[in-house]
Amino acid sequence: MNREEHHERKPPARPERTFLVHGVAVPAAALPAGLHVVATPIGNLGDMTLRGLSILAAADAILAEDTRVSRTLLARYGIGTPLSPYHEHNAAEARPRALSRIAEGQALALISDAGTPLVSDPGFKLVAEAVAAGLAVTTAPGACAALAALCVAGLPTDRFFFEGFLPPRSAARRERINALAAVPGTLVFYEAPSRLGETLCDLAAELGPRPAAVARELTKLHEEVRRGTLDALAADYGAGEAPRGEIVIVVGPPERREAVDEGALDAEIRAALAALSVKDAAAAVAAKLGLPRRQVYARALALAGAAR
Ligand code: SAM
Repeated sequence: MNREEHHERKPPARPERTFLVHGVAVPAAALPAGLHVVATPIGNLGDMTLRGLSILAAADAILAEDTRVSRTLLARYGIGTPLSPYHEHNAAEARPRALSRIAEGQALALISDAGTPLVSDPGFKLVAEAVAAGLAVTTAPGACAALAALCVAGLPTDRFFFEGFLPPRSAARRERINALAAVPGTLVFYEAPSRLGETLCDLAAELGPRPAAVARELTKLHEEVRRGTLDALAADYGAGEAPRGEIVIVVGPPERREAVDEGALDAEIRAALAALSVKDAAAAVAAKLGLPRRQVYARALALAGAAR
């Protein structure tokens, strides 16, 4: 093959990087080498930021959780950047390849199917290894279901704890919820619609009748937010068919109390022991006072033993 033939076979240069906003082509800003973490909408495609679009249009490639899902978003905004899969099943092989491309001077964008990558989505190890390798990491922040749900729940937002998905089996789920009972802030969970009823029941059993909200299909046509105490929401969603769509559960913090003094704790435990087993009394008092169940259980055992 002579030089000219070789030259002819080179892939065509990519056209100027642009993205479309309301049909108007906008030139993308130059993008430095690095890993660029870009949030995408959680339902309403209008929630894509202009800077996110510019990065996606200018990148050498976009690492995407499901390339078919991301193609819809890119088509809507007229972006032709090549997509490359990055998901939990191929991450171990895809990660070193992505890191070498960045080290060679390329700009790679990372997106997930919806919302903010790394939040209950792939990307943490990629970012951690890029940072460890001294590569640049930037972000174009945007939609995130946890924050969107907090915005509409009507529950305190000064402190919140994002748990993500709870374990699917009830025993492990209750154990995990119990470990969260003393967190002094609002709790945020992602949940599948098929498990919503049972998870609300477990939350009510472990945390008591705290105020809560179920935010469904945020930013979409059938967006709905139901607010109430955990037991009322559990009864509501426990009856009838499982709801459809995507769901975030937000649970208000435990009642704010001054440090519970020992006498008051003992009085609560004794009252509960009059009607309940040691285990159930400990769970009920722990939930009521926002204390770790193990701590209350140890004291309940001692009081029950002394009473015998
Ligand atoms: N990275 C995403 C983010 O920033 O929110 C979350 C990805 S996680 C795999 C998907 C879960 O997020 C869904 O099961 C649901 O709990 C929640 N979610 C995503 N979109 C939602 C929406 N529009 N309304 C309510 N919850 C949503």
